[in-house]
Amino acid sequence: MLKDDCLFCKKIKGEIPSSKVYEDGDMYVFKDIAPKAKVHLLAVPKDHYKLISEMDDGRAQVLARILTKLPQVAAENGCTNGYRLVVNQGDDAGQTVFHLHVHILGGENLPWD
Ligand code: AMP
Ligand code: ZN
Repeated sequence: MLKDDCLFCKKIKGEIPSSKVYEDGDMYVFKDIAPKAKVHLLAVPKDHYKLISEMDDGRAQVLARILTKLPQVAAENGCTNGYRLVVNQGDDAGQTVFHLHVHILGGENLPWD
């Protein structure tokens, strides 16, 4: 279910532009507008919910399919030597868009500390 006032739902519906790199029945993947690495993609489930803490069994099955597909999407978009997946949960993590999304960061060696 998509939500009218959500930025990422609007992207999924095509109401606002995005640099889409992949789409299937479960997810929509596009380039982050303010990349924090040479490659920075966002993988967004096509079901609107805010937080990883709102997972249930059904959503977990969808997320499992998404995670199964992500290595291929990452490799096809320049992450051929590894990548980092990040999910920010809530304010302390600096979450700014409250539609669950997985950051895919790569295309270069990523600092850890
Ligand atoms: P988070 O801080 O985990 O909620 O991540 C939200 C991400 O969405 C940030 O990395 C932003 O740069 C990105 N973002 C915000 N607005 C847009 C947009 N219009 N198109 C693409 N990415 C966006
Ligand atoms: Zn949404």
